[in-house]
Amino acid sequence: QVVITDVHKSFGTVQVLKGVSMSVRKSEVVCIIGPSGSGKSTLLRCINALVPIDKGSIKVDGIEVNDPKLDELALRRRVGIVFQSYNLFPHRTALQNIMMAPVHVLRQDKAEVEARARKLLAKVRLSEKADSYPGELSGGQQQRVAIARSLCMMPDVMMFDEVTAALDPETVKEVLNTIRELAAEGMTCILVTHEMGFAREVADTVHFTDHGRIVESGDAKAFFTSASDPRTREFLTQVL
Ligand code: ATP
Ligand code: MG
Repeated sequence: QVVITDVHKSFGTVQVLKGVSMSVRKSEVVCIIGPSGSGKSTLLRCINALVPIDKGSIKVDGIEVNDPKLDELALRRRVGIVFQSYNLFPHRTALQNIMMAPVHVLRQDKAEVEARARKLLAKVRLSEKADSYPGELSGGQQQRVAIARSLCMMPDVMMFDEVTAALDPETVKEVLNTIRELAAEGMTCILVTHEMGFAREVADTVHFTDHGRIVESGDAKAFFTSASDPRTREFLTQVL
């Protein structure tokens, strides 16, 4: 469903991605781990065409991201991304935040979108917060609204970039539960996370990145116990 081949990306003279290749099958949960600055967020942004790549190919459902004629909207409908900072519109309620893009960008029928948005609020267990403003919600609740907002575009792939990193320990769980349920329902997921226990539990495949390269990849169950590359081992001893 996502095929990444030899992707290179530099910012100025800094080479951030130095030939990254990986693929993600439908319903697969892929976790990307690695030290700060190794290029994880940049890779996700490249997949969503938020950052143009210099060389290589990224195909999402057959759409080539590195195509000058790329239809960015078509791509972003297929690939949702949720960041550490949820960036909800502060003067819109939870429900309005979720409905905004389908109604105003995709011009979908408002009643249909509202029905879908309410279902998604129920799915992230926030039905009773439909009319609350972001400022009235906890960090974890806001993050779940952000996930519902992304899901309301009906993507085929969801990407999560350290979505729990800014949350209190108690609310981390709620957000991880939401992702766990999505994964169990067969949503294709690409996760960047520092939650190693969670990665081990929900991921099918783990990729370890270092200095812009994927150093080691493997089955999630085996990865944490039998990673062989010395850089991977060193990283894991620091975080586990
Ligand atoms: P972290 O775990 O800290 O989130 P990361 O693996 O996600 O790190 P990236 O955010 O992808 O790392 O950044 C990789 C490198 O690219 C860093 O050196 C960063 O400074 C640089 N970088 C990222 N975005 C830009 C940009 N827009 N302009 C210039 N440099 C950038
Ligand atoms: Mg990052």
